[in-house]
Amino acid sequence: MKIDALLNQFDNQQPITILPCANLFEAALLLTRRNIGVLVVVDQNNLLSGVVSERDLVRALARHRGAVTEQSVASVMTERVVTCSRQDLVCDVMAVMDEKAIRHVVVTEESDIQGVISLREIYRAYSRLKEEANTDELTGISNRRQFMRALKSEFGRYQRHGEIFSLAVLDLDHFKTVNDRYGHDVGDEVLRSIAQMLESQCRDIDCVGRIGGEEFAIVFPSTDLSSAVGACERLLERVRRLSFRTGPQTFQVTTSIGLTCVHSKCAQAEDMLKRADVLLYTAKRSGRDRLVAASELELTHTPKSEPRTQAVL
Ligand code: GH3
Ligand code: MG
Ligand code: MG
Repeated sequence: MKIDALLNQFDNQQPITILPCANLFEAALLLTRRNIGVLVVVDQNNLLSGVVSERDLVRALARHRGAVTEQSVASVMTERVVTCSRQDLVCDVMAVMDEKAIRHVVVTEESDIQGVISLREIYRAYSRLKEEANTDELTGISNRRQFMRALKSEFGRYQRHGEIFSLAVLDLDHFKTVNDRYGHDVGDEVLRSIAQMLESQCRDIDCVGRIGGEEFAIVFPSTDLSSAVGACERLLERVRRLSFRTGPQTFQVTTSIGLTCVHSKCAQAEDMLKRADVLLYTAKRSGRDRLVAASELELTHTPKSEPRTQAVL
């Protein structure tokens, strides 16, 4: 990530500046009122002279036993400021900050001061980016990347400790018809509602993700096939019971589910996903709005009951 991208994330990119001749009381007021940790010190020509941080003020307070309000900013500011440009990489800037044990850098272009960045902001931005990279934008649940991470981690636990788990893949039935009849926005709303419902119905330890357009998947840790069958049948029922309204019309949707449980023939996490996909395909072929569950190929189990809701609409 470049510094430019980081600066663009801030609500207010403009650095708060102060003159070197200002006193520390004024500096303290500015820091408090603006709720910031550092001020950029500039001279009359708006040229960078230094930075003054909360830490500088606290040190001055300790050194002068409280009698500091009349002291000037120039007397406590850090003059040797590290600057960077918008085009610098954040990781390179962080390395310099680490080496010099500093917490703020000033972003400049030519002699123009474009912003000031603190270590705290860098950490916050990274954690926000990480969150965004793992979240599905439409529904707010885990995206495919994060889901695969959870699946692989659960698979690792199985390999190390023999801790079994189940994996379900859900694909909404005839979803193209929903979009065609009611529009893409309504389709999006359906996806959001389904995601919300899945999250609220699953346990905290389960991982629910959107792994494709109208496809969701769930990892059920420490859950054998028969317990997972119970959970998935409840989810099928929940999906059937959701009612969507658009103008005067209401409609329902259904989903098909492929469910598998980890077993000794699975060499890697991806095998399980492929297996669940095959079972999902079987559920689609045998009429949709149903669950097909198996831990191994020969154990295929299809609930005998006919679906209570028509496939769609
Ligand atoms: P099937 O029962 O066989 O799964 O039928 P289907 O219509 O659900 O399957 P198909 O793969 O033919 O179509 C999937 C549809 O999902 C088509 C696509 O427009 C829709 N879709 C995928 N992603 C999104 C999305 O983010 N928003 C909306 N509204 N629709 C989406
Ligand atoms: Mg699909
Ligand atoms: Mg579908």
